[in-house]
Amino acid sequence: MQAFHDLVRDVPDFPRPGIMFKDITPLLADARAFGACIDALCEPWRGQGIGAVCGIESRGFIFGAAMARALDAGFVPLRKAGKLPPPVVGVDYGLEYGLDRLEIGSNALSPGERVLVVDDVLATGGTLEAARRLVERLGAEVMGASVVIELAVLNGRGKWPAQTPLHTLLTY
Ligand code: AMP
Repeated sequence: MQAFHDLVRDVPDFPRPGIMFKDITPLLADARAFGACIDALCEPWRGQGIGAVCGIESRGFIFGAAMARALDAGFVPLRKAGKLPPPVVGVDYGLEYGLDRLEIGSNALSPGERVLVVDDVLATGGTLEAARRLVERLGAEVMGASVVIELAVLNGRGKWPAQTPLHTLLTY
């Protein structure tokens, strides 16, 4: 099996000049590597009573749904504005340029439910932090987050509460 690192493709200047896009599609396409990746992502969360995995649109859906199955948890999508049918709860968050918004179904989580947040890439950390706030707005408990790739130079981890576990598989 190829190492995970070798199955992530660097794409310079995509989708905008200056961005080094991390393309995880070669990793997804490799059956053994994808399976091992999901196993490694789930490992810290086994036996933690995770009731729901919240995946962030859109690549967080791929990893999050597979993890939900492996952890015997439900899957809940966190989506960009206007994609989920009402009723929804949303939070706005800052991007490098402008604002974005994440939404969740108002009844998608139960109060006190133990939730894991999942995405593919941690860059500036704004998206993951918005996801955390959204889950807490519904009264659920954020047990932690799992992200496949951490771009350490952008220090997204600095936006995440230090006392809440944040697991990443690959660091660049
Ligand atoms: P941020 O809010 O800055 O941490 O950005 C994280 C979100 O943007 C994730 O949902 C990623 O899918 C996406 N993203 C940010 N930077 C990259 C990158 N270099 N390669 C791939 N996806 C990225």
